[in-house]
Amino acid sequence: LVPRLRPFTTTIFAEMSALAVRTGSINLGQGFPDSDGPAGMLQVAKSAIDDGVNQYPPGPGIPALRSAIAAARLRDRGQTFDPDTEVLVTVGATEAIASAVLALVDAGDEVLLIEPYYDSYPAVVAMAGGRHVSVKLRPDAAGRFGLDPADLRAAVTDRTRMILINSPHNPTGTVFTREELEGIAAVAVEHDLVVVADEVYEYLTFDDVLHVPIATLPGMAERTLTVSSAGKTFNVTGWKIGWVCGPAGLVAAVRAAKQFLTFVGGAPFQPAVAHALEHEMGWVDGMRKDLQGKRDRLCAGLAAAGFPVSKPAGTYFVVIDIRGGAGDPGRWKDGLQFCLELPERAGVVAVPQQVFHDDPADGAPFVRFAFCKQDAVIDEAVSRLTAMG
Ligand code: PMP
Ligand code: GLN
Repeated sequence: LVPRLRPFTTTIFAEMSALAVRTGSINLGQGFPDSDGPAGMLQVAKSAIDDGVNQYPPGPGIPALRSAIAAARLRDRGQTFDPDTEVLVTVGATEAIASAVLALVDAGDEVLLIEPYYDSYPAVVAMAGGRHVSVKLRPDAAGRFGLDPADLRAAVTDRTRMILINSPHNPTGTVFTREELEGIAAVAVEHDLVVVADEVYEYLTFDDVLHVPIATLPGMAERTLTVSSAGKTFNVTGWKIGWVCGPAGLVAAVRAAKQFLTFVGGAPFQPAVAHALEHEMGWVDGMRKDLQGKRDRLCAGLAAAGFPVSKPAGTYFVVIDIRGGAGDPGRWKDGLQFCLELPERAGVVAVPQQVFHDDPADGAPFVRFAFCKQDAVIDEAVSRLTAMG
């Protein structure tokens, strides 16, 4: 393996899911739902296979899906995209992000990441021969992780090309406020940077929290690539249908890289996702409400088990601070040790936040649990954690 990829040998999600299987534990680590997406959408995919929709789809994605994506962005976000030139279907959000970085980041260029960051971001920056520079989210008194735009501004150099943001944010569950987004936008405009906005959890926000796409702020449409995915919106993480929307020039660049990564993908799933964006948003709203109940269920359970927790505004993750963990501050060295011992002590798997940091010490007290699971699964996990004492 080339040196620049050596830090990225195994993903924490694969490692922790394997640990869950090996130990027969409840897997609240890797974020994937344990129930299916809307039946109508699944039926469209099955029919597509029966109807022979099994060969390479068009490079940018089937026209019906590109149109459905553009229409959904207009309907739900007020954004206008030309489905022919400003929308590209990808193999998950992962490929959209990788292609954007490979297309726009040259050797030696710097990309600003918000830390903690999703694990694929530093890896693809390294693949491009770039360098990532991290800007930390910091918890406030209530435990919400927020961004101080001054920190972002301080990280810009003359090599900075891109800011890669993620809201709603994995792992913290933070949904950036309009003020935070305005702060990011001001830095991007001032330094003429491209922004890649990973919005895969865009429909998974709770209470009255609204998701604001950064591309809708003044000066941002022309410099933003907005990324989303059917995986999170329609409970089909294994389908790997994602997309990127943005100005034609940037989307063409992303496509240039994308066509040599996978060329195309997911032929029978593309019409199904088009159907879902047009007809299944009621299902999504129900799922979002259910998820909010699951969030409350897990948060209450974790608190009762002795783990301080701050309710996330979005995503399907909640982060605990193990320092207060079951009343014994010195009990665990860090979140990694906690997660490695948890399967044996309690039969539960979680993900240590420190793997999403440059310096593990910065994320050491935090551990992420996923709540996109059946209520009974959440309850059983909570009772096991409570019994651990
Ligand atoms: N971005 C974030 C923040 C994620 O949590 C994930 C994981 N699901 C992805 C991107 C990848 O999405 P996809 O499965 O569509 O590639
Ligand atoms: N996005 C999911 C998570 O954060 C997992 C994705 C993956 O396994 N690569 O848990």
